[in-house]
Amino acid sequence: MLTARDSVDDRVRGLEAGADDYLVKPFAFRELVARIRAVTRRHQPPPPAVVEVGDLRLDADAWTVTIAGQPVAMTPKEFAILELLMQNAGRLLSRSQIEEHVWDTDLHTESNLLEVYIARLRRKLAAGGATDLITIDADGVVIAGEWDVTPAVHIHTELHRARPDATVVIHGHPYYATLLGGLGIAPEIIHQNSSIFARDIAFVDEYDGLIGNADAGAALAERIGTATGVVLANHGAIVTGRTIAEACYQAVTFERMCKFYYDSLLAPQKPRILPEDAALAIKPHLKQGCPPVFWDGAVRQLLRSEPETLS
Ligand SMILES: [Zn+2]
Repeated sequence: MLTARDSVDDRVRGLEAGADDYLVKPFAFRELVARIRAVTRRHQPPPPAVVEVGDLRLDADAWTVTIAGQPVAMTPKEFAILELLMQNAGRLLSRSQIEEHVWDTDLHTESNLLEVYIARLRRKLAAGGATDLITIDADGVVIAGEWDVTPAVHIHTELHRARPDATVVIHGHPYYATLLGGLGIAPEIIHQNSSIFARDIAFVDEYDGLIGNADAGAALAERIGTATGVVLANHGAIVTGRTIAEACYQAVTFERMCKFYYDSLLAPQKPRILPEDAALAIKPHLKQGCPPVFWDGAVRQLLRSEPETLS
């Protein structure tokens, strides 16, 4: 309410009648603007706890960020920056707006802290797509791509060098293979599909557990020998394949084989191990028939759920 009526009674009556504010003439224009801002600030609803932009979802109550349902770990500062950007999706925010929101102050002009956080966010949000691919040379030196590699890359490079058939080397710590690694045993074949590993299973325990250079990688490759499914003592698994399709199928099958075998050890009767002759007879049929079917299905499934994978 803007008026020349300036008694206390007038002002009280105006406010009680529903005015948000009461300004008496003559007034300074700056004060009017400041008061309008103050009134509109009071009326702004609190930002919603859940913000969604595309398949990116941020929940400020639960402190979670997901991309297409997959959780992405965030530090508190990364979370605060992302929350501000998502609440203002489509709008430009100045550097100082972001800094005031996240650090409660302007950072020094020469600070590149904000750039560091933005770069990290870009990486995390890009994770899961084809942009994650990197190219390395035979010694593990990155030639192209944004990511770096760990010294454990020599698990791969030296096995590639030693084994022409190991075109693809998959290493990881899947639950059941790693569990058998902790128990100190290799899986045995109790299911037909595991026959794809007949005579190609190894348990490797004579290594120091940390592959930090090419020599350690070469020593490990020697102990692996010709195996395509390997349990590493107290560590994890290595599966090799001649093609990407074969390696992927064998990696999934190896973990399933380890699960079958571990569960069978818990059963009251001893597991029936498939005789080696039978396993060797089935093996070539599995090698030929299973990988392409599995791979095609897996690719279709991936592209349906994450169409941006190829972008
Ligand atoms: Zn590992």
